[in-house]
Amino acid sequence: MRNGVAIAVASAVILAVVWWAWKLVCAAISWFCKAMALRVVIPAWLFGLLLVSGVIALGMILRTVIPHGVREPNWQDYDVDAFFGMIWRWSYYASGSIGNLWCFCPRCDTELMAREDGWKETLCTNFFCETWGATMGRVPGDGHTVLSKVERQIRRKLRTDEWKKVLSREGSAPNP
Ligand SMILES: [Zn+2]
Repeated sequence: MRNGVAIAVASAVILAVVWWAWKLVCAAISWFCKAMALRVVIPAWLFGLLLVSGVIALGMILRTVIPHGVREPNWQDYDVDAFFGMIWRWSYYASGSIGNLWCFCPRCDTELMAREDGWKETLCTNFFCETWGATMGRVPGDGHTVLSKVERQIRRKLRTDEWKKVLSREGSAPNP
């Protein structure tokens, strides 16, 4: 019996609170609607100021929402280029040095196989495409020499800002 009374009282209190909160929300909405319908006379300079600051704020919001669409290219975006008639790809270590440098077929993008031939002055590295069954490039020197030649070219393009031209013609594959 006492439990029933307690539940009834509690329900009445909750109902009263909900009803009071609902009235408060309705009053707030109605006040807001009335306030929005009011005509406010402001000087033209104030209107202009509000308009300009609104446009600036909108521009700032849009810049943070779409930052990547207009992002300036970074030198670390330069990670593919054509050297010795082949496509070379690489990545950068945290220190900025070049790593994972290797070459790919300019026709079918297969990873090329390196084969050295010749002796001393005539030593060359041939880069062979398994898919086409053909040699896609022949560069004087052993494999390590060729890799360091390409690395020097990459570093040269980074220093001279030539990498920006390579990035701007990307989209289509770089010219072999
Ligand atoms: Zn190929």
